[in-house]
Amino acid sequence: MPRSLDFEYLLTPNGLEHRRRVHMDDAGRIRSIEAAGEDGFDARFAIPGMPNAHSHVFQRAMAGFAEAKAGDDTFWSWRRHMYRLAAVLTPDDLYAIARRAYADMLAAGFTSVAEFHYIHHSPDDETSGRMGRAVTEAARDAGIRQVFLPVYYRQGGFGKAASAEQGRFLHPTPESFGEFLSQFTDVTCGIAPHSLRAVPAAELGRLVEVAEAVLGKSFPIHMHVAEQLPEVSECQKHHGARPVTVLANSVDLDSRWNIVHATHADEDERALIINSGARVVLCPLTEAYLGDGLFEAGAYMRGGGQWGIGSDSNVRIDAIEELRVLEYGQRLARRQRACLADASGLGLPLWQHAAGGGAEALQIDAGVVQPGRFADFVTLDLAAPALAGVAPDRVMDAWVTAGSRQDIAAVYVGGKMLAGPAGISGASDVASDYSRVMKSVNERMRAL
Ligand SMILES: [Zn+2]
Repeated sequence: MPRSLDFEYLLTPNGLEHRRRVHMDDAGRIRSIEAAGEDGFDARFAIPGMPNAHSHVFQRAMAGFAEAKAGDDTFWSWRRHMYRLAAVLTPDDLYAIARRAYADMLAAGFTSVAEFHYIHHSPDDETSGRMGRAVTEAARDAGIRQVFLPVYYRQGGFGKAASAEQGRFLHPTPESFGEFLSQFTDVTCGIAPHSLRAVPAAELGRLVEVAEAVLGKSFPIHMHVAEQLPEVSECQKHHGARPVTVLANSVDLDSRWNIVHATHADEDERALIINSGARVVLCPLTEAYLGDGLFEAGAYMRGGGQWGIGSDSNVRIDAIEELRVLEYGQRLARRQRACLADASGLGLPLWQHAAGGGAEALQIDAGVVQPGRFADFVTLDLAAPALAGVAPDRVMDAWVTAGSRQDIAAVYVGGKMLAGPAGISGASDVASDYSRVMKSVNERMRAL
């Protein structure tokens, strides 16, 4: 591994810096940043690697499912298809799907991932952690930095028993979840109470205590909140209050908490999130794919709210495209332009905020190019059609509007190049394992 990398342009907290040499230590952290020479650059344009703050990696296998018109097509009908997939997956299937999806994330600009994992129990073993191991081992083998978030899932809806198809996701008590969690102390972990639908609000405090006994005080907590309008109305009916309010009344909402989606959070709820130090995790491509709705991103960001992005369903994996859809959703809703931009532009501040906020969401030392943080970088191909001839300070604006993952030249995790001009190492074996597994998964789903 090189002990230093030279970049012609490097995005740091000071902005776009010219000719910078990044020195790294043996752990892959940035030791110092100083002036570089005038040529011989390792890459021309480098930005921090993007943390992927929300992933259900198995849903990569959903691409192409559930797109045919079949009546009232909503998130809830999509969920029935997803449950059919979840029902048939074995640990070996999950490993092959995750291994390919994580390689794909690296090639798409994501250098770390928060894996929100809820298919716990193996078909042949009610209490096994083998499904969890499949995703932690796939991340290790792909080289992506993972924060593993085992999900606590307890019920089928507000005050409702779980259905048979949710059986693989369930733990009966916070204590039994704590025992499950304790199998994973060898990997970087947080926890994910699934949602206010799936976890009684009265159990959340105990769940956090149980997790603290296993993980200590400092770990990330991720939860789906207010993704769908029916969820908000059911929450109001059951609790007499909106979801973020119920959450804030149930736990000490603090910087450990990450509110995934928050799509239908109203102004008071957004203020609650901002004032608590918690943040939102937005998944624009998936929120569009599922027909969730639009989060009031402009107002939230102007109010100082922190945020990260996630590829969630992983049906399309592309970090810059997440940011484009985030901005374009606001433009379409408001009939305005540059909704999330500042005076410096659009692509640069969006990438910086998402990368910094994503690193906070994962509680990892990454997302910002500065000494002490991991040397996770994405470099861009300035000769790519979308970027060629663009002035350096406009490159991120060109990328976010005109470009895609295709314009990435290389991706580094901890200073090590994992995706580059030669592609991703072992990619053909990973792809053929994936194809073989998907053929078998499709056959088993048809037999259901
Ligand atoms: Zn999700």
